[in-house]
Amino acid sequence: MEAVDARGPYDDENIFAKILRGEIPSTKVYEDEWSYAFEDINPQAPTHVLVIPKGKYRSWVDFTESASAEEIAGFIRAVGAVARELGLEDDGYRLLVNAGKNAHQMVPHLHVHVFAGRPLGPMLAGGANG
Ligand code: 5GP
Repeated sequence: MEAVDARGPYDDENIFAKILRGEIPSTKVYEDEWSYAFEDINPQAPTHVLVIPKGKYRSWVDFTESASAEEIAGFIRAVGAVARELGLEDDGYRLLVNAGKNAHQMVPHLHVHVFAGRPLGPMLAGGANG
């Protein structure tokens, strides 16, 4: 699978659009009016959850430019609710959003990764120049 460009029109056939429509199964962790959270299929930590807005947004820039204030607030609150409801606050957790090719975004629907359950190491492997 190739990394995607974070710009351009929304692709209704991307895998997270299919998950939102219930066409592909997923293990639900949290859901509200604005957001859906589910377990990552290839977890990189004991807890690895993806939180996605229900609206059609490719990236953080797309979302924050085009979504309503209600959608943005709802989505940000949902990320917090996932961390709280999963009990991640005591030991800590990490949030990550990949956008575009250099960040290795693979699915062109905005998603926040929530990692927890073990020491997560330095922020980025490799330092400033990789
Ligand atoms: P990205 O690299 O775009 O930030 O992350 C995409 C994430 O989606 C990866 O961690 C990958 O394991 C996950 N993923 C890809 N396809 C599926 C799927 O069909 N179901 C679930 N639950 N996760 C998926």
